[in-house]
Amino acid sequence: MHIKKHLSFSSLRKLLSECFCKIPEYRQNTKVSYSIHDAVMSGFACMYFQDPSILQFQERMEKTLHRNNLSTLFGVKDIPKDSQLRNIVDEIASNKFEYFFEEFARNLQRGKQLDEYQILPNLYLHTLDATGYFSSESIHCPGCLTKTHNEGEEDEKIRFMHQALQVAIMHPDKRQVIPLMPEEIKNTDGQTKQDCETNAAKRLIKKLRTMHPRRGIILLGDDIYSRQPMIEEAKSHNMHYLFVVKPSSHKYLQEWVDAYKNLFTCEYTNFMKGERYVLEWMNKVSLHGGENAPEVNYLLCRVYKKDKKTGEEKKTYQNSWVTDIALDKGNVYKLARGGRCRWRIENECFNTLKNQGYNIERNYGHGEKNLCFNFYLLTLIAFAFHQVFELTDKLYQACRANFCSKMFMWEKLRSYIDLLIFESWEILLTFTLNPKEYIQWAKPPPAA
Ligand SMILES: [Zn+2]
Repeated sequence: MHIKKHLSFSSLRKLLSECFCKIPEYRQNTKVSYSIHDAVMSGFACMYFQDPSILQFQERMEKTLHRNNLSTLFGVKDIPKDSQLRNIVDEIASNKFEYFFEEFARNLQRGKQLDEYQILPNLYLHTLDATGYFSSESIHCPGCLTKTHNEGEEDEKIRFMHQALQVAIMHPDKRQVIPLMPEEIKNTDGQTKQDCETNAAKRLIKKLRTMHPRRGIILLGDDIYSRQPMIEEAKSHNMHYLFVVKPSSHKYLQEWVDAYKNLFTCEYTNFMKGERYVLEWMNKVSLHGGENAPEVNYLLCRVYKKDKKTGEEKKTYQNSWVTDIALDKGNVYKLARGGRCRWRIENECFNTLKNQGYNIERNYGHGEKNLCFNFYLLTLIAFAFHQVFELTDKLYQACRANFCSKMFMWEKLRSYIDLLIFESWEILLTFTLNPKEYIQWAKPPPAA
């Protein structure tokens, strides 16, 4: 079976081990009982199997069999207690995880997997979107963002939140999204004004360019990005952009476009989906008409679909964007489809993280320093592993196809690792595909 070697479970897990081993020791060595590597990797294993009880089960296995799956699959020498895991993960500076994301993207590039994500020659869509991954009225830490409801009134309430600005590489023909290192939207000491998505975006853009100096990047963002400062930020880091423009927030631009009777126009039919795209565009329009306003290229997309019953055509989608890429007949359809797939970061990435059992932060508490965001990162890394296997690992794909739902497959995997020891991830999958081949029947216990 052909598996891209540098993207196999063991290669990615080794890469992760490398990343965790680089985290500097901060503890007084007299009291150290668990290595940082083992603690963080155990946390990762919980996220990977979406199972907070994995530590207890594997510890039990270790006691009776002197071996366990955390050691065979994840290279964990000593399994920490939950509280130790929590304390160690809380202390780690979140930027220590950047190394993994950087090398992970490099591995994808090396294996040519990234090539398939080009939307235009040598250009990749990088979608930006903020997500909230924690919210509470009681639990909080110094890094929490706050929102006050009914301020000054009797029923005043403060809500504590954690948010991250996520960036992911996407392609309209690809279900899988490739997550990159997110930027935390976070309050820091001494700052009176709360952090916000656009500030986080500025930090993220700068880091993204440092990490990948030569990659052709098109930033994809919603209407809050289509403003002069963000456009200038993208350009100053040698990035392209494709940002949504709402008519209500870009009145000048809209009036200008409306007054212009003959925009360039063309049509495309997506036969697979039975959709008709009507595209209109205009190059070199002023963003807001003011002095020093950036010149942008405007793209409007309308999608029509025939109703199956009545045969009547209805408009099912409409959106407009501004970009610095000169628009023509050859690229408007690709860009519009790219812009349209922005919702997928929400659907494929955030919702999967929240709904499919990845969200087990509540089992470890909130922490005082970085616990909350570090668990989000570990969850995201587990998600990245799974996305890569969906893309490249035939064994994983066969396993997925064998079960009606992803949830059910993971339930099986969890139950097997609680019972048996597997020397590798591949053996676990092979076993899961056809357990009967390995176990004929359960023998009755020997007579007393
Ligand atoms: Zn907090």
